[in-house]
Amino acid sequence: MKDLAEYTAAPAAGERRFHVLGYGLSLEYNVIMKELLQDAAERAARYLEELPIRSVAPGEEATRRLREFDEPLPDCPSTPQSVLDMLDTIGSPGTMAMAGPRFYGFVVGGSLPAALACNWLAAAWDQNSALYNVTPATAALEQIALRWLLELFGLSSGCAGAFVTGATMANFCSLAAARHAVLARAGWDVESDGLFGAPPITVVVGDEAHPSLIKSLGLLGLGRNRVVRVPVDNQGRIRADEMPLLSGPTIVCLQAGNVNTGSFDPLDVICPRAHEARAWVHVDGAFGLWAATVPDLRHLTRGVEQADSWATDAHKWLNVPYDSGLALVRDADALRAAMSVTASYLPTATEHRNPSDYTPEFSRRARGVEVWAALRSLGRWGVADLIERTCRHARTFARELQSAGYQVLNDVVLNQVLVSFADAERTRQVIRRIQADGTIWCGETVWQGHIAMRISVSSWATTELDVDRSLEAILRAAGDSGS
Ligand SMILES: *Cc1c(COP(=O)(O)O)cnc(C)c1O
Repeated sequence: MKDLAEYTAAPAAGERRFHVLGYGLSLEYNVIMKELLQDAAERAARYLEELPIRSVAPGEEATRRLREFDEPLPDCPSTPQSVLDMLDTIGSPGTMAMAGPRFYGFVVGGSLPAALACNWLAAAWDQNSALYNVTPATAALEQIALRWLLELFGLSSGCAGAFVTGATMANFCSLAAARHAVLARAGWDVESDGLFGAPPITVVVGDEAHPSLIKSLGLLGLGRNRVVRVPVDNQGRIRADEMPLLSGPTIVCLQAGNVNTGSFDPLDVICPRAHEARAWVHVDGAFGLWAATVPDLRHLTRGVEQADSWATDAHKWLNVPYDSGLALVRDADALRAAMSVTASYLPTATEHRNPSDYTPEFSRRARGVEVWAALRSLGRWGVADLIERTCRHARTFARELQSAGYQVLNDVVLNQVLVSFADAERTRQVIRRIQADGTIWCGETVWQGHIAMRISVSSWATTELDVDRSLEAILRAAGDSGS
Protein backbone atom coordinates (compact mmCIF):
# COMPACT_ATOMS: atom_id res chain seq x y z
CA MET A 1 0.00 0.00 0.00
CA LYS A 2 1.19 3.50 -0.85
CA ASP A 3 1.70 5.93 1.98
CA LEU A 4 0.21 9.41 1.92
CA ALA A 5 3.40 11.23 0.88
CA GLU A 6 3.93 8.95 -2.07
CA TYR A 7 0.32 9.22 -3.02
CA THR A 8 0.14 13.00 -3.02
CA ALA A 9 3.36 13.37 -5.01
CA ALA A 10 2.83 14.40 -8.61
CA PRO A 11 2.32 11.39 -10.89
CA ALA A 12 5.49 10.08 -12.51
CA ALA A 13 5.88 10.71 -16.20
CA GLY A 14 3.47 8.52 -18.12
CA GLU A 15 1.60 7.50 -14.98
CA ARG A 16 -2.10 8.05 -15.43
CA ARG A 17 -3.91 8.35 -12.18
CA PHE A 18 -6.05 10.86 -10.41
CA HIS A 19 -7.30 10.94 -6.90
CA VAL A 20 -9.29 12.98 -4.49
CA LEU A 21 -6.44 15.10 -3.25
CA GLY A 22 -6.43 18.31 -5.21
CA TYR A 23 -6.19 17.71 -8.95
CA GLY A 24 -9.68 19.12 -9.47
CA LEU A 25 -11.19 19.32 -12.90
CA SER A 26 -7.96 19.28 -14.87
CA LEU A 27 -7.37 18.04 -18.38
CA GLU A 28 -6.00 14.86 -16.87
CA TYR A 29 -9.23 14.48 -14.90
CA ASN A 30 -11.30 14.64 -18.09
CA VAL A 31 -9.28 11.91 -19.77
CA ILE A 32 -9.24 9.57 -16.80
CA MET A 33 -12.89 10.21 -15.93
CA LYS A 34 -13.89 9.18 -19.41
CA GLU A 35 -11.82 6.01 -19.18
CA LEU A 36 -13.30 5.28 -15.78
CA LEU A 37 -16.89 5.67 -16.95
CA GLN A 38 -16.17 3.62 -20.07
CA ASP A 39 -14.67 0.93 -17.87
CA ALA A 40 -17.80 1.01 -15.68
CA ALA A 41 -20.01 0.79 -18.78
CA GLU A 42 -18.04 -2.16 -20.13
CA ARG A 43 -18.20 -4.00 -16.85
CA ALA A 44 -21.93 -3.32 -16.54
CA ALA A 45 -22.56 -4.50 -20.09
CA ARG A 46 -20.58 -7.67 -19.43
CA TYR A 47 -22.55 -8.23 -16.21
CA LEU A 48 -25.85 -7.90 -18.05
CA GLU A 49 -24.62 -10.09 -20.91
CA GLU A 50 -23.79 -12.90 -18.51
CA LEU A 51 -27.06 -12.67 -16.56
CA PRO A 52 -29.02 -15.17 -18.68
CA ILE A 53 -26.29 -17.82 -18.50
CA ARG A 54 -25.19 -17.52 -14.89
CA SER A 55 -26.90 -19.02 -11.85
CA VAL A 56 -29.71 -16.67 -10.78
CA ALA A 57 -28.74 -16.95 -7.11
CA PRO A 58 -25.09 -16.23 -6.28
CA GLY A 59 -23.04 -19.33 -5.55
CA GLU A 60 -21.66 -20.17 -2.11
CA GLU A 61 -18.11 -19.28 -3.13
CA ALA A 62 -19.24 -15.86 -4.42
CA THR A 63 -21.08 -15.15 -1.19
CA ARG A 64 -18.07 -16.26 0.86
CA ARG A 65 -15.82 -13.90 -1.10
CA LEU A 66 -17.88 -10.89 0.05
CA ARG A 67 -15.81 -11.08 3.23
CA GLU A 68 -12.97 -9.54 1.23
CA PHE A 69 -14.84 -6.23 1.43
CA ASP A 70 -14.55 -6.41 5.20
CA GLU A 71 -11.13 -4.78 5.52
CA PRO A 72 -10.05 -2.07 7.96
CA LEU A 73 -11.05 1.48 6.95
CA PRO A 74 -8.22 2.50 4.59
CA ASP A 75 -5.91 5.31 5.66
CA CYS A 76 -4.89 6.34 2.15
CA PRO A 77 -6.89 7.18 -0.94
CA SER A 78 -7.10 4.60 -3.72
CA THR A 79 -7.57 5.23 -7.40
CA PRO A 80 -11.20 5.17 -8.55
CA GLN A 81 -10.22 2.46 -11.05
CA SER A 82 -9.08 0.14 -8.29
CA VAL A 83 -12.26 0.76 -6.30
CA LEU A 84 -14.41 -0.02 -9.32
CA ASP A 85 -12.38 -3.13 -10.05
CA MET A 86 -12.86 -4.36 -6.50
CA LEU A 87 -16.60 -3.77 -6.64
CA ASP A 88 -16.90 -5.70 -9.87
CA THR A 89 -14.53 -8.53 -9.00
CA ILE A 90 -15.95 -9.25 -5.56
CA GLY A 91 -19.39 -7.64 -5.74
CA SER A 92 -20.80 -8.66 -9.12
CA PRO A 93 -20.65 -12.44 -8.55
CA GLY A 94 -22.27 -11.96 -5.13
CA THR A 95 -25.41 -10.37 -6.56
CA MET A 96 -28.78 -11.98 -7.17
CA ALA A 97 -29.65 -11.84 -10.88
CA MET A 98 -32.71 -9.68 -10.31
CA ALA A 99 -32.06 -7.72 -13.50
CA GLY A 100 -32.10 -10.94 -15.50
CA PRO A 101 -34.97 -12.72 -17.25
CA ARG A 102 -35.63 -15.57 -14.80
CA PHE A 103 -35.92 -14.02 -11.35
CA TYR A 104 -39.50 -14.60 -10.18
CA GLY A 105 -39.20 -13.82 -6.46
CA PHE A 106 -41.32 -11.24 -4.58
CA VAL A 107 -42.55 -8.77 -7.24
CA VAL A 108 -39.33 -7.60 -8.87
CA GLY A 109 -38.82 -6.02 -12.27
CA GLY A 110 -35.55 -5.52 -14.12
CA SER A 111 -34.31 -2.27 -15.62
CA LEU A 112 -35.42 -1.19 -19.07
CA PRO A 113 -32.42 -0.13 -21.21
CA ALA A 114 -33.56 3.50 -21.46
CA ALA A 115 -34.29 3.68 -17.74
CA LEU A 116 -30.87 2.30 -16.80
CA ALA A 117 -28.95 4.53 -19.21
CA CYS A 118 -30.81 7.66 -18.17
CA ASN A 119 -30.28 6.74 -14.52
CA TRP A 120 -26.52 6.77 -15.17
CA LEU A 121 -26.59 10.15 -16.85
CA ALA A 122 -28.76 11.57 -14.08
CA ALA A 123 -26.24 10.25 -11.53
CA ALA A 124 -23.57 12.25 -13.34
CA TRP A 125 -25.84 15.31 -13.16
CA ASP A 126 -26.05 14.80 -9.37
CA GLN A 127 -29.04 17.09 -9.02
CA ASN A 128 -30.52 17.74 -5.60
CA SER A 129 -34.04 17.59 -6.97
CA ALA A 130 -36.01 19.45 -4.34
CA LEU A 131 -36.78 22.81 -5.96
CA TYR A 132 -37.73 23.73 -9.51
CA ASN A 133 -35.75 26.96 -9.58
CA VAL A 134 -32.56 25.19 -8.58
CA THR A 135 -32.87 21.98 -10.60
CA PRO A 136 -35.27 22.80 -13.43
CA ALA A 137 -34.49 19.85 -15.71
CA THR A 138 -35.19 17.12 -13.18
CA ALA A 139 -38.19 18.95 -11.69
CA ALA A 140 -39.67 19.37 -15.17
CA LEU A 141 -39.15 15.69 -16.01
CA GLU A 142 -40.94 14.68 -12.80
CA GLN A 143 -43.87 16.88 -13.61
CA ILE A 144 -44.18 15.46 -17.12
CA ALA A 145 -43.76 11.86 -15.91
CA LEU A 146 -46.52 12.50 -13.38
CA ARG A 147 -48.87 13.84 -16.05
CA TRP A 148 -48.22 10.81 -18.27
CA LEU A 149 -48.77 8.39 -15.39
CA LEU A 150 -52.10 9.93 -14.41
CA GLU A 151 -53.17 9.64 -18.03
CA LEU A 152 -52.03 6.00 -18.25
CA PHE A 153 -53.87 5.04 -15.06
CA GLY A 154 -57.00 6.97 -16.07
CA LEU A 155 -56.82 9.23 -13.01
CA SER A 156 -57.76 12.90 -12.80
CA SER A 157 -55.08 15.19 -14.22
CA GLY A 158 -55.37 17.39 -11.13
CA CYS A 159 -53.91 14.75 -8.81
CA ALA A 160 -50.70 15.55 -6.96
CA GLY A 161 -47.85 13.07 -6.95
CA ALA A 162 -44.80 12.24 -4.88
CA PHE A 163 -41.80 10.40 -6.32
CA VAL A 164 -40.53 8.36 -3.40
CA THR A 165 -38.50 5.23 -2.71
CA GLY A 166 -41.22 2.62 -3.12
CA ALA A 167 -44.77 1.64 -2.35
CA THR A 168 -44.08 1.61 1.39
CA MET A 169 -43.29 5.33 1.35
CA ALA A 170 -46.02 5.92 -1.22
CA ASN A 171 -48.51 4.38 1.19
CA PHE A 172 -47.02 6.55 3.93
CA CYS A 173 -47.39 9.78 1.91
CA SER A 174 -50.92 8.95 0.78
CA LEU A 175 -52.02 8.09 4.30
CA ALA A 176 -50.37 11.25 5.66
CA ALA A 177 -52.52 13.23 3.21
CA ALA A 178 -55.54 11.19 4.30
CA ARG A 179 -54.79 11.83 7.97
CA HIS A 180 -54.55 15.55 7.27
CA ALA A 181 -57.82 15.68 5.33
CA VAL A 182 -60.06 13.65 7.63
CA LEU A 183 -58.83 15.54 10.70
CA ALA A 184 -59.07 18.95 8.97
CA ARG A 185 -62.74 18.14 8.31
CA ALA A 186 -63.12 17.51 12.04
CA GLY A 187 -61.52 20.90 12.78
CA TRP A 188 -58.08 19.55 13.76
CA ASP A 189 -54.70 20.60 12.32
CA VAL A 190 -52.63 17.45 12.70
CA GLU A 191 -49.39 18.88 11.27
CA SER A 192 -49.38 21.69 13.87
CA ASP A 193 -50.96 19.99 16.84
CA GLY A 194 -50.07 16.34 16.46
CA LEU A 195 -52.25 13.38 17.29
CA PHE A 196 -52.46 13.74 21.08
CA GLY A 197 -56.00 14.91 21.81
CA ALA A 198 -57.06 14.69 18.16
CA PRO A 199 -60.42 13.19 17.22
CA PRO A 200 -59.92 9.45 16.75
CA ILE A 201 -59.56 8.16 13.18
CA THR A 202 -61.06 4.83 12.18
CA VAL A 203 -58.75 2.95 9.83
CA VAL A 204 -60.25 0.08 7.85
CA VAL A 205 -58.00 -2.46 6.10
CA GLY A 206 -58.53 -5.80 4.45
CA ASP A 207 -57.24 -8.86 6.25
CA GLU A 208 -54.80 -9.29 3.35
CA ALA A 209 -53.38 -5.73 3.43
CA HIS A 210 -49.67 -5.73 2.58
CA PRO A 211 -47.48 -5.65 5.73
CA SER A 212 -45.81 -2.47 4.49
CA LEU A 213 -49.16 -0.68 4.53
CA ILE A 214 -49.61 -1.71 8.16
CA LYS A 215 -46.09 -0.46 8.87
CA SER A 216 -46.83 2.93 7.35
CA LEU A 217 -49.92 3.23 9.56
CA GLY A 218 -47.58 2.69 12.51
CA LEU A 219 -45.18 5.38 11.28
CA LEU A 220 -48.10 7.83 11.08
CA GLY A 221 -49.21 7.24 14.66
CA LEU A 222 -52.36 5.52 13.44
CA GLY A 223 -51.22 2.24 14.93
CA ARG A 224 -50.36 -1.11 13.41
CA ASN A 225 -53.00 -2.90 15.48
CA ARG A 226 -55.48 -0.08 15.92
CA VAL A 227 -57.24 -1.01 12.69
CA VAL A 228 -60.53 -2.60 11.73
CA ARG A 229 -59.68 -5.70 9.73
CA VAL A 230 -62.25 -6.82 7.20
CA PRO A 231 -62.41 -10.53 6.28
CA VAL A 232 -61.39 -11.57 2.76
CA ASP A 233 -62.43 -14.29 0.33
CA ASN A 234 -60.31 -17.18 -0.93
CA GLN A 235 -58.43 -14.89 -3.35
CA GLY A 236 -57.64 -12.34 -0.64
CA ARG A 237 -60.28 -9.81 -1.75
CA ILE A 238 -62.14 -7.80 0.88
CA ARG A 239 -65.68 -9.10 1.29
CA ALA A 240 -67.79 -6.01 0.68
CA ASP A 241 -70.65 -7.49 2.73
CA GLU A 242 -68.32 -7.59 5.75
CA MET A 243 -67.46 -3.88 5.62
CA PRO A 244 -68.30 -2.13 8.91
CA LEU A 245 -70.66 0.84 9.12
CA LEU A 246 -68.51 3.94 8.70
CA SER A 247 -68.84 7.24 10.54
CA GLY A 248 -66.57 10.02 11.77
CA PRO A 249 -63.01 10.56 10.49
CA THR A 250 -62.30 7.37 8.54
CA ILE A 251 -59.65 6.05 6.17
CA VAL A 252 -60.47 2.94 4.13
CA CYS A 253 -57.44 1.13 2.68
CA LEU A 254 -58.12 -1.04 -0.35
CA GLN A 255 -55.77 -3.10 -2.46
CA ALA A 256 -55.24 -3.41 -6.20
CA GLY A 257 -53.07 -6.48 -6.66
CA ASN A 258 -52.59 -8.87 -3.74
CA VAL A 259 -48.90 -9.70 -3.45
CA ASN A 260 -49.66 -13.44 -3.48
CA THR A 261 -52.65 -13.89 -5.75
CA GLY A 262 -52.69 -10.64 -7.74
CA SER A 263 -56.38 -10.21 -6.85
CA PHE A 264 -58.20 -6.88 -6.51
CA ASP A 265 -60.55 -5.68 -3.77
CA PRO A 266 -64.04 -4.78 -5.07
CA LEU A 267 -63.10 -1.14 -5.56
CA ASP A 268 -66.24 -0.20 -7.49
CA VAL A 269 -68.50 -1.49 -4.71
CA ILE A 270 -66.65 -0.10 -1.71
CA CYS A 271 -65.55 3.34 -2.99
CA PRO A 272 -69.05 4.84 -3.35
CA ARG A 273 -70.17 3.43 0.01
CA ALA A 274 -67.11 4.81 1.78
CA HIS A 275 -67.62 8.19 0.17
CA GLU A 276 -71.23 8.32 1.34
CA ALA A 277 -69.76 8.24 4.86
CA ARG A 278 -67.19 10.91 3.84
CA ALA A 279 -64.35 8.44 4.38
CA TRP A 280 -61.03 8.78 2.53
CA VAL A 281 -60.33 5.81 0.26
CA HIS A 282 -56.70 4.82 -0.30
CA VAL A 283 -55.64 2.13 -2.78
CA ASP A 284 -52.38 0.21 -2.43
CA GLY A 285 -51.69 -0.63 -6.06
CA ALA A 286 -47.97 -1.32 -5.82
CA PHE A 287 -48.12 -3.40 -8.99
CA GLY A 288 -51.84 -3.98 -9.58
CA LEU A 289 -52.52 -0.39 -10.59
CA TRP A 290 -50.59 -1.10 -13.81
CA ALA A 291 -53.46 -3.36 -14.92
CA ALA A 292 -55.30 -0.12 -15.70
CA THR A 293 -52.89 0.45 -18.60
CA VAL A 294 -54.05 -2.66 -20.52
CA PRO A 295 -57.45 -2.66 -22.25
CA ASP A 296 -57.93 -6.39 -21.58
CA LEU A 297 -57.08 -6.09 -17.89
CA ARG A 298 -58.64 -2.74 -17.07
CA HIS A 299 -61.82 -4.40 -15.77
CA LEU A 300 -59.82 -5.59 -12.74
CA THR A 301 -59.31 -1.99 -11.61
CA ARG A 302 -62.93 -0.93 -12.14
CA GLY A 303 -63.77 1.85 -9.69
CA VAL A 304 -60.13 2.63 -8.88
CA GLU A 305 -60.47 6.15 -10.28
CA GLN A 306 -63.01 6.93 -7.55
CA ALA A 307 -60.43 6.64 -4.75
CA ASP A 308 -58.75 9.59 -3.05
CA SER A 309 -55.17 8.34 -3.12
CA TRP A 310 -53.09 5.60 -4.72
CA ALA A 311 -49.68 4.10 -4.02
CA THR A 312 -47.72 2.33 -6.72
CA ASP A 313 -44.21 1.23 -7.62
CA ALA A 314 -42.17 2.05 -10.69
CA HIS A 315 -39.34 -0.31 -9.69
CA LYS A 316 -41.66 -3.32 -9.93
CA TRP A 317 -43.68 -3.48 -13.12
CA LEU A 318 -42.45 -0.39 -14.95
CA ASN A 319 -38.93 -1.88 -14.72
CA VAL A 320 -36.93 1.13 -13.63
CA PRO A 321 -33.87 0.71 -11.36
CA TYR A 322 -34.35 0.84 -7.59
CA ASP A 323 -35.65 2.76 -5.81
CA SER A 324 -38.80 4.26 -7.25
CA GLY A 325 -42.37 4.48 -6.01
CA LEU A 326 -45.22 6.93 -6.45
CA ALA A 327 -47.95 8.39 -4.30
CA LEU A 328 -50.86 9.92 -6.19
CA VAL A 329 -53.36 12.07 -4.32
CA ARG A 330 -56.53 13.68 -5.66
CA ASP A 331 -56.55 16.50 -3.08
CA ALA A 332 -53.21 18.12 -3.89
CA ASP A 333 -53.57 20.53 -0.95
CA ALA A 334 -53.83 17.63 1.49
CA LEU A 335 -50.57 16.08 0.27
CA ARG A 336 -48.77 19.42 0.28
CA ALA A 337 -50.11 20.20 3.75
CA ALA A 338 -48.70 16.93 5.02
CA MET A 339 -45.35 17.16 3.26
CA SER A 340 -44.20 20.71 2.64
CA VAL A 341 -41.63 22.20 4.96
CA THR A 342 -43.62 25.35 5.67
CA ALA A 343 -47.26 26.35 5.38
CA SER A 344 -46.35 28.51 2.39
CA TYR A 345 -47.89 25.86 0.16
CA LEU A 346 -50.95 28.14 0.27
CA PRO A 347 -52.07 29.50 -2.12
CA THR A 348 -51.77 26.45 -4.34
CA ALA A 349 -51.36 27.89 -7.79
CA THR A 350 -47.68 28.08 -8.66
CA GLU A 351 -46.39 27.77 -12.17
CA HIS A 352 -43.77 25.19 -11.36
CA ARG A 353 -43.95 22.18 -9.14
CA ASN A 354 -41.35 21.82 -6.40
CA PRO A 355 -40.79 18.07 -5.94
CA SER A 356 -40.01 18.40 -2.24
CA ASP A 357 -43.40 19.95 -1.47
CA TYR A 358 -44.81 16.45 -1.90
CA THR A 359 -42.26 14.13 -0.33
CA PRO A 360 -40.98 13.29 3.15
CA GLU A 361 -37.43 14.05 1.95
CA PHE A 362 -36.06 17.47 1.17
CA SER A 363 -32.75 16.69 -0.55
CA ARG A 364 -33.47 13.84 -2.92
CA ARG A 365 -32.31 12.17 -6.10
CA ALA A 366 -34.11 12.75 -9.39
CA ARG A 367 -36.41 9.72 -9.39
CA GLY A 368 -38.61 11.17 -12.10
CA VAL A 369 -35.85 10.78 -14.69
CA GLU A 370 -36.09 7.00 -14.98
CA VAL A 371 -39.89 7.04 -14.88
CA TRP A 372 -39.87 9.56 -17.72
CA ALA A 373 -37.27 7.49 -19.60
CA ALA A 374 -39.25 4.26 -19.24
CA LEU A 375 -42.48 5.88 -20.40
CA ARG A 376 -40.75 7.78 -23.19
CA SER A 377 -39.14 4.62 -24.53
CA LEU A 378 -42.18 2.33 -24.18
CA GLY A 379 -45.02 4.67 -25.00
CA ARG A 380 -48.60 3.77 -24.13
CA TRP A 381 -48.54 0.60 -26.23
CA GLY A 382 -45.19 -0.51 -24.91
CA VAL A 383 -46.38 -0.27 -21.32
CA ALA A 384 -49.54 -2.20 -22.14
CA ASP A 385 -47.48 -4.83 -23.98
CA LEU A 386 -45.07 -5.23 -21.04
CA ILE A 387 -47.91 -5.74 -18.56
CA GLU A 388 -49.93 -7.96 -20.88
CA ARG A 389 -46.95 -10.11 -21.90
CA THR A 390 -45.84 -10.82 -18.34
CA CYS A 391 -49.42 -11.79 -17.44
CA ARG A 392 -49.47 -14.15 -20.41
CA HIS A 393 -46.24 -15.77 -19.17
CA ALA A 394 -47.87 -16.21 -15.75
CA ARG A 395 -50.85 -17.97 -17.36
CA THR A 396 -48.44 -20.28 -19.23
CA PHE A 397 -46.74 -21.21 -15.95
CA ALA A 398 -50.10 -21.95 -14.34
CA ARG A 399 -51.40 -23.99 -17.26
CA GLU A 400 -48.27 -26.11 -17.68
CA LEU A 401 -47.79 -26.76 -13.97
CA GLN A 402 -51.43 -27.75 -13.61
CA SER A 403 -51.26 -30.09 -16.54
CA ALA A 404 -48.16 -31.67 -14.96
CA GLY A 405 -50.35 -32.43 -11.94
CA TYR A 406 -49.37 -29.67 -9.53
CA GLN A 407 -51.87 -27.48 -7.76
CA VAL A 408 -52.18 -23.78 -8.56
CA LEU A 409 -53.73 -22.17 -5.50
CA ASN A 410 -54.91 -18.86 -7.00
CA ASP A 411 -56.99 -17.65 -9.92
CA VAL A 412 -54.24 -16.32 -12.19
CA VAL A 413 -55.82 -12.98 -13.05
CA LEU A 414 -52.55 -11.07 -13.22
CA ASN A 415 -48.81 -11.91 -13.06
CA GLN A 416 -48.77 -13.94 -9.82
CA VAL A 417 -48.91 -17.75 -9.60
CA LEU A 418 -49.01 -19.78 -6.37
CA VAL A 419 -47.97 -23.41 -6.75
CA SER A 420 -48.12 -26.23 -4.28
CA PHE A 421 -46.14 -29.43 -4.81
CA ALA A 422 -48.33 -31.50 -2.47
CA ASP A 423 -47.63 -30.93 1.24
CA ALA A 424 -45.62 -28.17 2.95
CA GLU A 425 -42.53 -30.32 3.41
CA ARG A 426 -42.42 -31.37 -0.21
CA THR A 427 -43.13 -27.84 -1.50
CA ARG A 428 -40.26 -26.45 0.59
CA GLN A 429 -37.96 -29.17 -0.70
CA VAL A 430 -38.81 -28.37 -4.32
CA ILE A 431 -38.24 -24.64 -3.73
CA ARG A 432 -34.82 -25.39 -2.19
CA ARG A 433 -33.90 -27.52 -5.20
CA ILE A 434 -35.07 -24.87 -7.64
CA GLN A 435 -33.04 -22.18 -5.91
CA ALA A 436 -29.94 -24.37 -5.81
CA ASP A 437 -30.30 -25.36 -9.48
CA GLY A 438 -29.91 -21.68 -10.40
CA THR A 439 -31.87 -21.63 -13.67
CA ILE A 440 -34.53 -19.53 -11.95
CA TRP A 441 -35.27 -18.10 -8.52
CA CYS A 442 -38.66 -18.39 -6.82
CA GLY A 443 -39.50 -17.81 -3.18
CA GLU A 444 -41.74 -19.40 -0.61
CA THR A 445 -44.92 -17.86 0.75
CA VAL A 446 -47.81 -18.82 2.99
CA TRP A 447 -51.20 -18.48 1.35
CA GLN A 448 -54.16 -18.83 3.71
CA GLY A 449 -52.34 -21.43 5.77
CA HIS A 450 -50.71 -23.29 2.85
CA ILE A 451 -47.02 -23.21 1.99
CA ALA A 452 -46.65 -22.32 -1.67
CA MET A 453 -44.06 -21.29 -4.21
CA ARG A 454 -44.76 -17.87 -5.68
CA ILE A 455 -43.96 -17.11 -9.31
CA SER A 456 -44.12 -13.40 -10.07
CA VAL A 457 -43.48 -12.50 -13.72
CA SER A 458 -42.59 -8.81 -13.66
CA SER A 459 -39.51 -8.35 -15.83
CA TRP A 460 -39.48 -6.82 -19.30
CA ALA A 461 -36.62 -9.24 -20.10
CA THR A 462 -38.53 -12.52 -19.69
CA THR A 463 -39.16 -14.24 -23.04
CA GLU A 464 -41.20 -17.27 -24.01
CA LEU A 465 -37.95 -19.19 -24.25
CA ASP A 466 -37.19 -18.21 -20.65
CA VAL A 467 -40.60 -19.48 -19.61
CA ASP A 468 -39.90 -22.82 -21.33
CA ARG A 469 -36.50 -23.13 -19.66
CA SER A 470 -38.03 -22.14 -16.32
CA LEU A 471 -40.78 -24.73 -16.59
CA GLU A 472 -38.18 -27.38 -17.39
CA ALA A 473 -36.24 -26.39 -14.27
CA ILE A 474 -39.33 -26.49 -12.07
CA LEU A 475 -40.49 -29.86 -13.42
CA ARG A 476 -36.97 -31.25 -13.05
CA ALA A 477 -36.82 -30.19 -9.41
CA ALA A 478 -40.35 -31.34 -8.64
CA GLY A 479 -40.07 -34.59 -10.59
CA ASP A 480 -36.96 -36.15 -9.12
CA SER A 481 -37.32 -34.80 -5.58
CA GLY A 482 -39.25 -37.93 -4.62
CA SER A 483 -37.96 -38.48 -1.10
C1 LIG B 1 -44.28 -4.61 -2.96
C2 LIG B 1 -45.53 -4.12 -2.30
C3 LIG B 1 -45.48 -3.11 -1.33
C4 LIG B 1 -44.18 -2.55 -0.82
O1 LIG B 1 -43.51 -1.91 -1.85
P1 LIG B 1 -41.97 -1.45 -1.71
O2 LIG B 1 -41.70 -0.88 -3.04
O3 LIG B 1 -41.20 -2.69 -1.42
O4 LIG B 1 -41.89 -0.45 -0.61
C5 LIG B 1 -46.68 -2.65 -0.83
N1 LIG B 1 -47.85 -3.17 -1.23
C6 LIG B 1 -47.94 -4.15 -2.15
C7 LIG B 1 -49.29 -4.68 -2.56
C8 LIG B 1 -46.78 -4.65 -2.72
O5 LIG B 1 -46.84 -5.62 -3.64
